[in-house]
Amino acid sequence: MKKIILTGDRPSGKLHIGHYVGSLKRRVELQNSGEFDKIYIMIADAQALTDNFDNPEKVRANITEVALDYLACGIDPNKSTVFVQSHVAELTELTFYYMNLVTLARLERNPTVKAEIKQKNYELSLPMGFLTYPVSQTADITAFKATTVPVGEDQLPMLEQAREIVRSFNNLYGETLVEPKAVLPENKSCLRLPGTDGMAKMSKSLGNCIYLSDSADEIKRKVMSMYTDPNHLKVTDPGDTEHNPTFIYLDAFATDDHFARYLPEYQSLAEMKAHYERGGLGDMKVKKFLNAVMQETLEPIRTKREELAKDIPAIWDMLYQGSEAARAVAAQTLSEVKKSMRIDYFAERK
Ligand code: ATP
Ligand code: MG
Repeated sequence: MKKIILTGDRPSGKLHIGHYVGSLKRRVELQNSGEFDKIYIMIADAQALTDNFDNPEKVRANITEVALDYLACGIDPNKSTVFVQSHVAELTELTFYYMNLVTLARLERNPTVKAEIKQKNYELSLPMGFLTYPVSQTADITAFKATTVPVGEDQLPMLEQAREIVRSFNNLYGETLVEPKAVLPENKSCLRLPGTDGMAKMSKSLGNCIYLSDSADEIKRKVMSMYTDPNHLKVTDPGDTEHNPTFIYLDAFATDDHFARYLPEYQSLAEMKAHYERGGLGDMKVKKFLNAVMQETLEPIRTKREELAKDIPAIWDMLYQGSEAARAVAAQTLSEVKKSMRIDYFAERK
């Protein structure tokens, strides 16, 4: 069986360091590993509209922002097909057929969707489109016969939902669709990077992000005002590193080389954490080191991004070509789906 990746992001904002460690960095590694027959990266504008339908301009503007983030991080359009979801109308048609294979109760039980409904205050006025977005995600994944979906932890319920729909479809209509597997980051801290405010998830919609495009000054300002351990009041107090976002970010980004360059009094993060835990290490020093690490990590991405941003029409060209290529693949899957369902009434007339 071919090894195929499908993954993507909602153009609800620019991409942040949570996306980078949770999914984007892995995608670039997988892309360059040469192990995959095909890689599809989708900018999920139709999905972003499910909770931004009153602001399509925002979604439109963020399509190019997300594409710039991709290319700046090393996504290569010669190796990966980058496309815009709404251009591939077949995905909507697949969604419509898959909707019959899911109950309302099942969708309402999805823990990620549940949390998002609460976060968006949709309890009393839930748009149908929002509730059904896991079904459209199944269409996105299966249209490309994806075997592998590199995602952050919050997407696991979506993958489970997709696997259930695939099994139902194949049981009812015959073996047609491929069951996908999620690939999570290996580093535990990257599964769900917290926000700079200490909230459980850094999220475009919560405004607690360090963006890949942030200027050096913005990065510094955000790092220096980060939430830490609220009980670590005096430098001499013992501190908590486990729930402290500054240490979680260091877990995700700091290497021993960074210590050698910027903080040689420690050889490793383990040593630094031990010091903080027993007391005697101040938050300021931790933040200064974190700032150095973040500056070094983000500087090349930002520089490349600024270069690419000079030619936005070239970004739209790339997206158009990717979207056309993606559409051809999805159309093929849709015709197989219709054949399996025996609703391909006019196939012979074509
Ligand atoms: P929104 O708030 O609009 O849903 P988001 O920040 O959750 O935005 P998505 O586009 O929904 O971003 O998610 C894109 C990918 O990034 C998914 O694979 C998701 O799991 C991953 N991801 C998002 N936020 C984080 C995070 N804080 N840590 C790790 N991975 C993340
Ligand atoms: Mg999300």
